[in-house]
Amino acid sequence: MRIVLLGAPGAGKGTQCKRIVARYGLMHLSSGDILRQERAAGTELGKKAEDYMDSGALVPDDIIVEMMAAAIKKTPEAGFILDGFPRTVNQAVELDESLARNGQRIDAVLNLRVSDRVVVERLTGRRSCPQCGAVYHVKNLKPKADRLCDNDGAELIHRSDDSREVVNNRLKTYRQQTRPVVDYYKKNNTVYDIDASKDADQVTSLVLENLDVLVSV
Ligand code: ADP
Ligand code: AMP
Repeated sequence: MRIVLLGAPGAGKGTQCKRIVARYGLMHLSSGDILRQERAAGTELGKKAEDYMDSGALVPDDIIVEMMAAAIKKTPEAGFILDGFPRTVNQAVELDESLARNGQRIDAVLNLRVSDRVVVERLTGRRSCPQCGAVYHVKNLKPKADRLCDNDGAELIHRSDDSREVVNNRLKTYRQQTRPVVDYYKKNNTVYDIDASKDADQVTSLVLENLDVLVSV
């Protein structure tokens, strides 16, 4: 199964991916997580990406497409779920073309829908583990011990691009460059719109309802 999970920053893509991948044996590929790993490792790619990421702009398509193609090559037979990619129509076209060269296609697109107000509340309250990438929220999804990761006890951080100012830029970027990706997929694929403003367990149920049907087809 090859799935794309769309949605504004903060819609809950990473949270849902982590909950559903094990059920189907899929690999979770988050372009944002891969970029942050490259930055932490101090690679050329990471250095090229940092100014764009810090300002809330998109990293250029050629860099991202190459990075994600390399990641997709390493995925298991069962497939993958893409989180944060594609983020422009050009990236979506390039992805389709590269899959088609291997006789493959995207089987389903899930679109997590939330209002701008919810995005701001979720991102300004998001706390992330710098070690394992686990994601929490100061009110909605708290860690068991205050400010510490449940998995490894590391001190949680507030990503600098989750500040109010950068979040506004990221929302603008999303509206201008990423929302058209939903329409692109609506032309060629089945897109499942999901109300992602509900609590995380309810959203997981909605996501699984759709994916279970696809798997049993
Ligand atoms: P994305 O990957 O789309 O940027 P995340 O999964 O990181 O979004 O979620 C953004 C923030 O919102 C995190 O702090 C997360 O804990 C919280 N969150 C995720 N889903 C929900 C939900 N359904 N209800 C409330 N808070 C949520
Ligand atoms: P995310 O963790 O998905 O919110 O991504 C963090 C930042 O990484 C974004 O604000 C962009 O600067 C960059 N980024 C992640 N994915 C992409 C992508 N598919 N295309 C361009 N830039 C991306």
